[in-house]
Amino acid sequence: MTEIHMVLTDDWELRGDGSGNVSAIQFETLRELRRIYEESGINASFNVEVMQQLSHLEWGTHHSHLGEIAAEWEDLVQETYLRGHDVQLHVHAQWTNAQYEADRWVLSGDWSILNYSENAAETMIRNCKDYLEQLLRRSNQTYQCVSFRSGSWCIAPSPHLLCVLSRLGIVFDMSIVEGLKYDGIVDLDYRSVDEPFLPYYPVMTDARRASPRQEPLVCVPTHSFRYNPVPRAWHTIRRRFTDPREYMAPNAVPPKDSGDNRYSVWEKKKSRMSRVLARVRRHFKPEIVVSDLSALSYPLMVSMIDDIRRRAESSGWDRVPVIIENHTKDVGNFRPIERFANLVSSIPDINVSTLTELASKLQAGTYPLAGDGSSN
Ligand SMILES: [Zn+2]
Repeated sequence: MTEIHMVLTDDWELRGDGSGNVSAIQFETLRELRRIYEESGINASFNVEVMQQLSHLEWGTHHSHLGEIAAEWEDLVQETYLRGHDVQLHVHAQWTNAQYEADRWVLSGDWSILNYSENAAETMIRNCKDYLEQLLRRSNQTYQCVSFRSGSWCIAPSPHLLCVLSRLGIVFDMSIVEGLKYDGIVDLDYRSVDEPFLPYYPVMTDARRASPRQEPLVCVPTHSFRYNPVPRAWHTIRRRFTDPREYMAPNAVPPKDSGDNRYSVWEKKKSRMSRVLARVRRHFKPEIVVSDLSALSYPLMVSMIDDIRRRAESSGWDRVPVIIENHTKDVGNFRPIERFANLVSSIPDINVSTLTELASKLQAGTYPLAGDGSSN
């Protein structure tokens, strides 16, 4: 049986436009998620968004409440790390030159790090990484940022971004997710990727493509899976005739006191006709679902685990890493995540590990990556 090394990540941040009450959507939700995972003996991996924190520190010199938020952020991140959870790097470029006006953040930076020059991207990532390493080295001298998830998943294609990451000592990136397609505030197209499930060496100018050679950095996709029309129809019927709460995702309810959500930025407005067509097509075509716990009902989390075990088994590898996503900022109902944590900790072939552990295993050659010269 293939051993599954599951990493439970959480992109820990304010909303993309800088809105939201930090205490409610970050501090409280982090404490709750941590409690749930700790009860199941699970160490989570928090991808903390650092551009936001650097903006709070900068503006905190003039607005004391922003300084207080930044201080609590640091305390909570350190405390979480000391409890055995991992903390790694997440960067949202739109916080570049953020302004704080009339009690709200005004973010005018480009959302996609792909649109920044090599110099600008390198400076941005280096500043964030240096800050996070300095913070956590107060607790552990040997702490290192080893992994990266790009804001809004923007990693490919880029003539320089992967090289920048590897120059900065990042071991692997986890921004590729099969099936994503954005055409709005960011543009990206991950509908066709060479390796949707296993870690691989990427072509250094396009992380969607697998290189036949060893490269200075590894890509580990964030998991996504096909939700086929038949199980979807079955879930729809069951939702109607059983307890509908069973089919509610954690983010169906916003966190308490989360503050108004002012933005909806992801997609360009579609015509009425294309919306109708998309709805019809949905009934016949499998839908690709990102394995983001905040957006999955418990039955869908179970389908996700089935998919992982099936693909792990057919890989022919003895062990495979799998990265799962979450966004605590959106979670008002933790019950499905609690059930998921119980389930995962009871499955013998699934071991939850952290991003740092995954980096060590990649470096130790635990997984037979193509190009390593080792056999599958
Ligand atoms: Zn993010």
